[in-house]
Amino acid sequence: MALEFCCTLSVCQKIHIFSDSRSALQELQDPKNSNEHFRKIKAIYKKATDTVWIRLHWIKAHVGYEGIEMADIQAKESTSRPEVDVEIPKSEGTLKSTLRRELLYQWQDRWILTKKGSHTRKLLPEVKCLTTLFHPKVVQFLTGHGRFPFYVRFGKSQSNTCPCGKVGEPLHYILESDNTKD
Ligand SMILES: [Zn+2]
Repeated sequence: MALEFCCTLSVCQKIHIFSDSRSALQELQDPKNSNEHFRKIKAIYKKATDTVWIRLHWIKAHVGYEGIEMADIQAKESTSRPEVDVEIPKSEGTLKSTLRRELLYQWQDRWILTKKGSHTRKLLPEVKCLTTLFHPKVVQFLTGHGRFPFYVRFGKSQSNTCPCGKVGEPLHYILESDNTKD
């Protein structure tokens, strides 16, 4: 509906569209062929972007944003229509990969939104299912939970700074400190 509305606008408008469906947003940007439903939406998207400047944004669901609540009402109304659309059963493989992808999206969202682990997030912004066995020293670097003045300041260490005066956190020793550059 939002994209159709964009098609009616004149040139030089800047439009930001917010959706709580990460999968829908990713699907729109995926150049590969997708299902009939998304092909239709992509066609409208392309038509709309021919005339107006559009940016798509993800927004958290169910936290009271007015526009999202209104879109939810519209979506519910359309699902309570009396006609039944033809439903093609999905294969087990498709279901598995859909669920896996959805779980990854949810995990990624939680990783972006949590207030914990900001140091680790800087280094590993993207969640992955691959199991990597890191050397314990690398784990200390990635988590910041190691013998860094910044980390042990609540315990033994007297100060949270490196001898050079800057905060003694892992990235300092890798990127800045002359003592540990090698
Ligand atoms: Zn230093």
